[in-house]
Parts: sequence; C-alpha cells; structure tokens
Amino acid sequence: MTDFISLTCPSCGGKLKITSEIERFACGFCGNEYLVKRGDGIVTLAPVIDQIKTMNQGIDKTNAELAMLRLREDIRQLEKRKSAILRKRKAGIQGLASAATVLLFSWVSFSVSVSQSKGFFLFLVILAVLVILVFSFIVARLNQEYKKGKKEIKLKESQINKYLQRINY
Ligand SMILES: [Zn+2]
Repeated sequence: MTDFISLTCPSCGGKLKITSEIERFACGFCGNEYLVKRGDGIVTLAPVIDQIKTMNQGIDKTNAELAMLRLREDIRQLEKRKSAILRKRKAGIQGLASAATVLLFSWVSFSVSVSQSKGFFLFLVILAVLVILVFSFIVARLNQEYKKGKKEIKLKESQINKYLQRINY
C-alpha cells in the first residue's frame, strides 16, 4: 500500500500529491524540481537548483582555498630565494670593494715603482680590472633576479587577493 502526501508547490502553488517514498520530483504544473526532505515528521521541499548552486559555491571555495595554499607556498619559496640572492649580492659587493682596493693600490704602486717591479704591478692592475668586471656582471645578474622575484611575489599576492574576493561573496 502506498501513502500519499499532499503538498503545495513552493513556486506556483499547485496542489501536489507525492508518494511517501519519493525523494525527488518535478512539479506537474511548473516543472520546477525539488528534493523531498523528511525530518521530525515534517516534509519540506528544497529546490534542486539551489542545492546545485550551493554545491558549486562549495566546490569553488575549495578550489580557491587550494589555489591560495599553493600560491602562499610559492611565495614562501620565492621569499627564501630572495634572501639567498641578497646574501650573494652582499658578497658580490664586498668582492667588488676588495678588487677596487687592490686596483687602487696596484695602480699607485705601478706609477711610482722602478722598472723591475712595474711588470708585476701592471699584472695586478689587469687582474683587479678583470675581477671587477666579473663581479659587476654577477651583481647585475643578481639585481635582475631579485627584481624578477619581487615582481613574481607581487603577482601571486594579487592572485590571492582575487581568490579572497571570490570566496567572500
Ligand atoms: Zn509548481
């Protein structure tokens, strides 16, 4: 024997009769779909569209949270790389200063020395110039890398903000 429940469609007000076991149905008048929820002896109807919307919002939020987690991890790695670059750059600048000192010393010595030792000081001058060139190149490269990392972090931070706006509707 099948029991019937009389209901009113929440959308169009049509009188409906559903069997007591049914869990989902479409209104015979307006076609809207509903999930039948039974609890505490009361039958309520939840529009299917709202259910899907809520579910999609949930998925969207989860995806956004996962993406933000990845972005934050990326930023952490970038910050680490940035401080490593800064350390290297500091060493490079110290190297430059040392080479400049050697250059000054050897240049002065070269100009005041007697002919026998002139060759040695000239060698020192050339060596110091070469070292300065190499260190300048390295420091310039590190500067570039540092700027690139800073830009990447900014980009990822703006992406996180976009995700935050999306899930805080
Ligand atoms: Zn209806």
